[in-house]
Amino acid sequence: MIRLNAVAKTYGAGASAVQALKPVDLQVHQGEIFGVIGASGAGKSTLIRCVNLLERPTQGSVVVDGITLTELGERELTLARRKIGMIFQHFNLLSSRTVFQNVALPLELAGQTQAQIRARVTELLKLVGLEGRAQAYPSELSGGQKQRVAIARALAPEPKVLLCDEATSALDPQTTQSILALLKEINQRLGLTILLITHEMEVVKSICDKVAIISNGELIEQGEVAWFFSHA
Ligand code: ADP
Ligand code: ADP
Repeated sequence: MIRLNAVAKTYGAGASAVQALKPVDLQVHQGEIFGVIGASGAGKSTLIRCVNLLERPTQGSVVVDGITLTELGERELTLARRKIGMIFQHFNLLSSRTVFQNVALPLELAGQTQAQIRARVTELLKLVGLEGRAQAYPSELSGGQKQRVAIARALAPEPKVLLCDEATSALDPQTTQSILALLKEINQRLGLTILLITHEMEVVKSICDKVAIISNGELIEQGEVAWFFSHA
């Protein structure tokens, strides 16, 4: 479902260049929850942002659901990105829009009718356990509720892949577990493939099928989570 072929990223040029990612190969199969774990500055954000080309790799190719994203022009890329949802550490909700309007946004951009949008947003809010909060503003919600809105928004265009960029790092342990449980449920119910980055082993232990360890821009180990914890 996701394949990175020798993807590398260097920020800047000349004397100030930073090689954030050395050539990385990564394969995530349909329906897997794949975690990339590493310390701050290891290259996790860069890696995950290269999957949807929020960050342009300096070299290598990115293939998602059979489409080589790195070969696409901007127009085609905008369409292909609907296959890829993303959630963030700080939720990135629009504060001037209600919960309903935040979740509706990608559907409006995709040109859906008001009736289609209402039906889909209602279904999504139910899925994430926020029915009844449609008219609330983000400032009225807890961190966990904000992340549920962000998940609903990410799922709105029916993506094949969900990217999670430190999605539970701003949450307390109990809320973290409830969000991880929701992600697992979505993975199982919708068959959604999930790639997440984290600096917390607990996240990997809780929901990942596979894990890769990143250090200094390199993937130094990869394998089944069950194998890691039986040999650690
Ligand atoms: P992590 O997510 O694991 O903390 P990052 O991918 O954010 O790691 O960063 C990897 C390296 O790339 C770090 O040395 C960081 O300072 C550097 N870096 C990240 N983004 C940029 C940028 N936009 N410009 C220059 N250097 C960057
Ligand atoms: P996080 O660790 O949560 O990803 P950071 O503080 O590392 O957050 O990075 C926040 C933003 O700043 C990111 O968009 C990243 O690409 C950028 N960034 C990180 N390091 C650098 C850097 N050395 N120079 C320029 N931008 C950077």
